[in-house]
Amino acid sequence: MASRTGNDRTTKRVPAPCSDQAGYGAAQRALPIAAPLLYAAAMTTLPSASPALPSSYWQAVQRGTLCKCPRCGAAPLFRKWLKSVDACASCGQNWSHHCADDFPAYIAILITGHVLAPLMIALPLDYDWSPLAVFALLIPLSVAMMLGMLQSAKGAVIATQWWHGLHGFVKERQPEAGPALRD
Ligand SMILES: [Zn+2]
Repeated sequence: MASRTGNDRTTKRVPAPCSDQAGYGAAQRALPIAAPLLYAAAMTTLPSASPALPSSYWQAVQRGTLCKCPRCGAAPLFRKWLKSVDACASCGQNWSHHCADDFPAYIAILITGHVLAPLMIALPLDYDWSPLAVFALLIPLSVAMMLGMLQSAKGAVIATQWWHGLHGFVKERQPEAGPALRD
């Protein structure tokens, strides 16, 4: 203990130049290595600091429907057909904890049904189509519509959950829309 205090005193008396210079030299040597890393870290964190947040709920849903990140609109929301990315490649938003479940399928069924039901009634009654001809048209059409809108419906559901801060998402609004957060 005594020797330690002695050493401490020496470092205090002979002070700083040695230790500071040593530290300064080490920093100088480390700087060329650290600078690119620090720059890269800054560049990866900057986009998430100021993403182009949507101005309204509908803009967020529009981005989701177009299969873009609802938060920034700059990167894809899906890595496969119905598999969302774990995190946005542009703003870093974590999408892994969304909970869309079967809701996109319900939306697709609802829209497909409402579009095709009038055809299903009108074709045989008004145009005398045989039941076989009606099925031959409507079944492939309904399958194509369902598959075609499933990804967009899922994007819209994820955007809705994010906008309303559900399932662990954090509500974010543009600064001018700030008061809406208090509602
Ligand atoms: Zn994003």
